[in-house]
Amino acid sequence: MKWETVIGIEIHAELKTKSKIFCGCPTDFGGDVNKQTCPICLGLPGSLPRLNKEVVNLAIKAGLALNCKINNVSKMDRKNYFYADLPKAYQISQYDYPVCTGGYVDIDLDGEKKRIRINRIHIEEDPGKLIHLQDEPFTLVDYNRSGVALIEIVTEADLRSPLEAVQYAKTIKSILEYENISDCRMEEGSLRCDANISIREHGDARLNTKVELKNINSFKELQKALEKEESRQRELYDFNESYKVIQETRRWDSSKGRTISMRKKEDAHDYRYFAEPDIPKLVVDDETIRQIEETLTELPSDKKARFIEDYKLTEKEAEILVGEKSLADYFEEVIKFGLSPKLIANWVLGDLMKLLKVQDTNIGSIPIKAQDISELLKLIEKGDISGKIAKDVLEEMFNTGKEPTIIIEEKGLKQISQGNVLEVIVDTVLEGNIKSIEDYKAGKEQALTFLMGQVMKETKGQANPVMAKEMLLNKIKIV
Ligand SMILES: [Zn+2]
Repeated sequence: MKWETVIGIEIHAELKTKSKIFCGCPTDFGGDVNKQTCPICLGLPGSLPRLNKEVVNLAIKAGLALNCKINNVSKMDRKNYFYADLPKAYQISQYDYPVCTGGYVDIDLDGEKKRIRINRIHIEEDPGKLIHLQDEPFTLVDYNRSGVALIEIVTEADLRSPLEAVQYAKTIKSILEYENISDCRMEEGSLRCDANISIREHGDARLNTKVELKNINSFKELQKALEKEESRQRELYDFNESYKVIQETRRWDSSKGRTISMRKKEDAHDYRYFAEPDIPKLVVDDETIRQIEETLTELPSDKKARFIEDYKLTEKEAEILVGEKSLADYFEEVIKFGLSPKLIANWVLGDLMKLLKVQDTNIGSIPIKAQDISELLKLIEKGDISGKIAKDVLEEMFNTGKEPTIIIEEKGLKQISQGNVLEVIVDTVLEGNIKSIEDYKAGKEQALTFLMGQVMKETKGQANPVMAKEMLLNKIKIV
């Protein structure tokens, strides 16, 4: 292939602080419009910002988790631009001296590792949120989000495909979740991606004109948007129309499935950055950095290695489990009840994941307690219920949160293991299917499968399959 795609990503993550970056207003999502505001976050004249220490600590924690250098001295700057969601007409951000510089993260591409360099992590404030009403000529603004603390994590242009970009964004999300730095709720906008994408000839070291795709808040859309923009640019290069690739910001219109030009991309000098005069330099000593480092927990990549080593899971199983911290925690909680990790992994990654997908929810919001799922697996192991019935019970647990034994009792799902009950059913089936007995005796193995099917049908799937088969075989010999 002649062309190579070059992608760099900027991830904006809202920090998990109780109050905003420069004032005491709460950061809760979904509050009444414009209620979580004060003169400071509304940018009223005469108000003075005061930097929330927790913001700096969380930014340092992110930097440490992403192998960055933490700068002992950094400063806040004003980024000047005029926009309705930014009442001060400038955003307080960090320009030339950010809090963290030069890190990296390793991403996993089908078992192969690739190191993505991180250029910097800086602190800034979120602007407000514009609400465009359908068919109305005006726009509303909600300033509740204005002044919520963000970190922006900026990569070098190390990514080479939309898939790598998505894998990178997923890795960052999971690290931020693990370290409790951001809640990363993409649907609420607390994690957003901007992606820069350009095309060049293979082997070329130069970077060509890039296009920025702004504010994408789902991995699926990120991949689609990048794929579309990649093919748009390649086409222009293929047909010698590369001059049409201009430095601009495009937005992704998912309903139309295409990127749309928003504005010519500004350069840094357009923002007329200057040092924020109302906030002193940020000075962080080594002891503080060391103390924050001590609060780091096991990173997803380490957890994955441990799951493979300790629980003998496959690479793929471990990857899916650690991909979401709550899923990994749930899995380890079930293990405490003394079942084989492999069996639990099969059920969690199989039937439970299927239910989560169908209902489009996550493990944190379902009513199944770890103890109840361990109870269900024990019932299968004991032979009280078949694997097939267990699937139905699991679904009922998923929907109602009831304990498995109660569901089994209520629905009369207990496996029929009493010999006398089963015997009557087996006899009835055999009497009604003399031909199949003859077929089996004549060497047709599938006749036995048919008879088993009949027994299962008669018992609505509740016959103990091992007992039923044994009984059938014994009786066929006698008949
Ligand atoms: Zn405020």
